[in-house]
Amino acid sequence: MLCSLCTTLDIRTLLITSSSQPLEDRTYLYTPAAGQTHSTKAIRPGIPRFFAHQASLLALRESAKNVGCELCRAIWAVYERNAQPYELQEDVLKEGVDGVGVAAGRLYVGTNQWDMALHALPHVAVSLVVDERSGGKMIAWFEVYAKRGGWYPTWNED
Ligand SMILES: [Zn+2]
Repeated sequence: MLCSLCTTLDIRTLLITSSSQPLEDRTYLYTPAAGQTHSTKAIRPGIPRFFAHQASLLALRESAKNVGCELCRAIWAVYERNAQPYELQEDVLKEGVDGVGVAAGRLYVGTNQWDMALHALPHVAVSLVVDERSGGKMIAWFEVYAKRGGWYPTWNED
């Protein structure tokens, strides 16, 4: 079961839009300690704010735990697993820290940077954006799989 918000998220359109982003040349450190770099011409930039999701982490938690939305539950589970313990405290979720922090953040669903040499599809990324002028913090990310059969064509079809 999905909440009314997640029902309107079109993952297929997100992935098609992400895969049509222009390729970029990039060189980045992949083992910083050893100073080794990786150069690629197969990077597509992410679209981190493709879809405005829950208005706050509290709204996400409410949808995950009380509404029972499966996608919100998956996003909350990743956030809960990776958050610092103080970030899960009730007062921090409601008020933030020193007036700034997780409480004021809106969630967005999009994709992160996609290295086509490493992954067949872009990862779906969920970002917490506290300041609209900044990039936000990625709080969850998922690999996407397509189930063969159903609407998806199979290799054995004529
Ligand atoms: Zn939801």
